[in-house]
Formats: sequence, structure tokens, C-alpha cells
Amino acid sequence: DGPTIFAITPTFTRPVQKAELTRLSQTFLLVPNFHWIVIEDSEEKTPLVTNFLAESGLTYTHINAPTPTHYKLGKSDQVWKKPRGVEQRNAALRWIRNNLNESRNGVVYFADDDNTYSRHLFREMVKVKRVGVWPVGLVGGLMVEKPICDEATGKVTGFNAIWKPERPFPIDMAGFAINLQVILEKKEAYFAYDIQSGFQESEILKKVTFRDELEGLASGCTKVYVWHTRTQNPVLNTENIYKKKRGKASN
Ligand code: UDP
Ligand code: MN
Repeated sequence: DGPTIFAITPTFTRPVQKAELTRLSQTFLLVPNFHWIVIEDSEEKTPLVTNFLAESGLTYTHINAPTPTHYKLGKSDQVWKKPRGVEQRNAALRWIRNNLNESRNGVVYFADDDNTYSRHLFREMVKVKRVGVWPVGLVGGLMVEKPICDEATGKVTGFNAIWKPERPFPIDMAGFAINLQVILEKKEAYFAYDIQSGFQESEILKKVTFRDELEGLASGCTKVYVWHTRTQNPVLNTENIYKKKRGKASN
């Protein structure tokens, strides 16, 4: 059997949450040997996510890990002000280290709830020996932000990033996966608060690998199988007007 893909998804309550989780789950159902680790940014597990996962048909682990209050984004804060998903991804890494061991063949991937994933991404991911990388669409001000690879060997010789190219690993969270053995070996590898925006990926990657060890996948980093899409908040004027009468709405 191939490796199990452990996909780590932080998520939080908002009107589009169920739509996001639905889009993700229906791609993930197409992936063999898939284990979804969903971490809610909340004090308690919500009924919405609990019920959603129970009916998803996926193998999953449901965790909650609230972001400490002073790291939470305020309504008027720019999104780049504070890191998102740090607490949740770290909780998932702790779960993996407490519940899985070296006998398990696996690959760990950070799958944010608003991105768009092709099922073909996971066909590449199962090839990851240590740390694999590939292009990500619609990020860093580019149609495609990607490693530059030698097509024959998959060796990474550089990056095409324009946004903060000084990042040690100038790639998006969706652009890499780490073999489970590496996650178990490098026990101190976690995400961190109080680091520059855009440096979370580098924060974990520098603890587990070197640039010249990266394995370039997706046909020598020429194919795009994941997009850093961002979902617009819907206008819910009418909901707000009638909320008082009908109580809290959900979908
Ligand atoms: N997230 C969260 N709590 C928050 C904001 C975001 O758990 O308060 C999650 C979100 O659901 C996503 C991940 O953290 O899975 C990254 O957030 P986002 O997609 O907003 O980041 P960006 O796309 O801007 O990098
Ligand atoms: Mn996002």
C-alpha cells in the first residue's frame, strides 16, 4: 500500500465555512489512503464541524485549538498583520507525534480550508521521500509561484518568487509536503508566532531540510495542481436584518 496522506486543515467559524469544507472533502474523497486532520480555531468543537465530518465519508481526526486572544485578528486588522493557523497546525503536529510512529508510512501536508486542490496533487505527494515541493497558482502576485527544477532529476535549482524573494524558502504553505518519518525525527519543528508575514513556510522548512535537498515534483515543477484561492466574504445584509427575529442563522 502507498503512504497515507495526513492533510492538516485549520478552520474557523464563518458563513462560508461549510462551503469550504464541502469543496475540500469532495476532492479528498477521490484520494486513496487519505486521513484528514481538521483543527478548529475554537474553545470547543462546534456541532457544525462535528456533524460535517461524521457525514463526510472520510477518515479523520477532529481537534480544537483556539488561537490565543492577543494573536487573533481583529475585524479591522489587515490579514497580513498576524499569523493564521499557527496554533492549529502545531496542535496537529503534536497529535501526529503522539499518535503515529515510525512503522507508519505517511506524508504530511498543510491544506488550508480555502485553497483549491486537484486530486492529481496527491498523486505527486505520495512520491515524497523527505520534503517535496511543487508550483502553487495565484499566489505571491504571480499566476504561478514555483520552484525551478531540473526536469530529469527533480533537483531544485532556484525559485521564481518575486514577493519577498529573500525568504529562505520562498514558497506557499500549499507548495510542499513532508514525509512522516521527517516529522517524527525533527520533533522540534513547529510553526511560530512573532515572525514576519510570509515566513511561516520557511520557519518549518528550515527545521526539516535544506534547499538543495528539496524534491521537485509535478513534472519537474511545470504543472499546477493547487491554487491559493481566497473566498470573498458574502454580503448577508438581509440575514443581519432578520437575525433578531429568527435567532442565529446557519447553513
Ligand atoms: N484560520 C483560522 N483562524 C483564523 C483565520 C484563519 O484557523 O482566525 C485558518 C483558515 O481557515 C485557513 C488557515 O488558517 O485554513 C490560513 O488562513 P487564510 O486562508 O486566511 O490565510 P491566507 O490564505 O491569507 O494565507
Ligand atoms: Mn487562504
